[in-house]
Amino acid sequence: MRCPFCAHEDSQVKDSRPSEDGAAIRRRRQCEACGARFTTFERVQLRDLTVVKKNGEREPFDREKLARSMAIACRKRDIPADRIDRLISSIQRQLETRGDEVTTSQIGEAVMDGLKALDHVAYIRFASVYKDFSEPGDFAEIAGAVGDEPAPEKPKGSSSDRLL
Ligand SMILES: [Zn+2]
Repeated sequence: MRCPFCAHEDSQVKDSRPSEDGAAIRRRRQCEACGARFTTFERVQLRDLTVVKKNGEREPFDREKLARSMAIACRKRDIPADRIDRLISSIQRQLETRGDEVTTSQIGEAVMDGLKALDHVAYIRFASVYKDFSEPGDFAEIAGAVGDEPAPEKPKGSSSDRLL
């Protein structure tokens, strides 16, 4: 694995252990050139997923992009990082079993289902950005579905294409 700090081609594995309930292997590595330490994760990938956006564009599924969206939704919610990683893995697995292509809507629905069970505030945050509320009724419907959580401010100019 190439060093992310100095781009040296080789690093040594210092420690390797199961992570995310055995769904991943976490490796601590050290660069042989500059000595910097970093972590890599090895995860199962059932197939190469292609994401079909609302505008028809296609791009490879990017777990990191999904992880960033989830991290924003879960910010300051005191949810263990490991639980979020496990949720991301389970969403990815669900999507992979559907076929080679998934739409941003399918990803969005899967994320909302997962977050609803994990944390209501994170769910509301994600849904408020993802659903791009043009109808006042949409938000009431979602807020009603999760109880009396405080309403987030409506984000400006958000779109599911940018989020996922
Ligand atoms: Zn290095």
